[in-house]
Amino acid sequence: MDYYGNQITKLINAFKSLPGIGAKSAGRLAFHIINMPKEEVEAFADTILTAKEKVRCCKCCYTLTDSEICPICADPKRDKTTIMVVENTRDLAAYEKTGKYNGVYHVLHGAISPMLGIGVEDIRLKELIQRLEGDVKEVIVATNSNIEGETTAMYISKLIKPTGIKVTRIASGVPVGGDLEYIDEMTLSRALDGRTEL
Ligand code: ZN
Repeated sequence: MDYYGNQITKLINAFKSLPGIGAKSAGRLAFHIINMPKEEVEAFADTILTAKEKVRCCKCCYTLTDSEICPICADPKRDKTTIMVVENTRDLAAYEKTGKYNGVYHVLHGAISPMLGIGVEDIRLKELIQRLEGDVKEVIVATNSNIEGETTAMYISKLIKPTGIKVTRIASGVPVGGDLEYIDEMTLSRALDGRTEL
């Protein structure tokens, strides 16, 4: 039974389609929007649209950014000879928050998952190998410690080993199956310090 009317139901369903938003939260958000002044709703909608239009991948590390080269790659003080491989931009942000890492990143945009049909070609692995042609001394594999993350780490290690470049994996201070972005900064910097060679 549609006791809300078509437009409200549509708005609730739009919120419900977002990750982590259940029916209750979706309803709360939808009614909050309806009760907001029109100008605020317009500004909010505009922020979403502009972000969608302007955000793209950094030409160098493939993190999401709104410039051709992201601020980390553009920073002359960052050590370009150390590349940390992460699954997504949120994981990059988690490491940046520790303030303990001065190298650069490579964002894969996913992990190898035969279950989900995500193969080697579907993530930015080719681009990582291309970057190794430059002056790179160490590749730190910081993919998640679930099956997909471990599979990807093994694959990267096999791929890079023949080049003679050092490949390391973050320590297991990161809980098995844990999503990097939810782990506290202390655990993350310990995992980085305790990395081992693959
Ligand atoms: Zn970059």
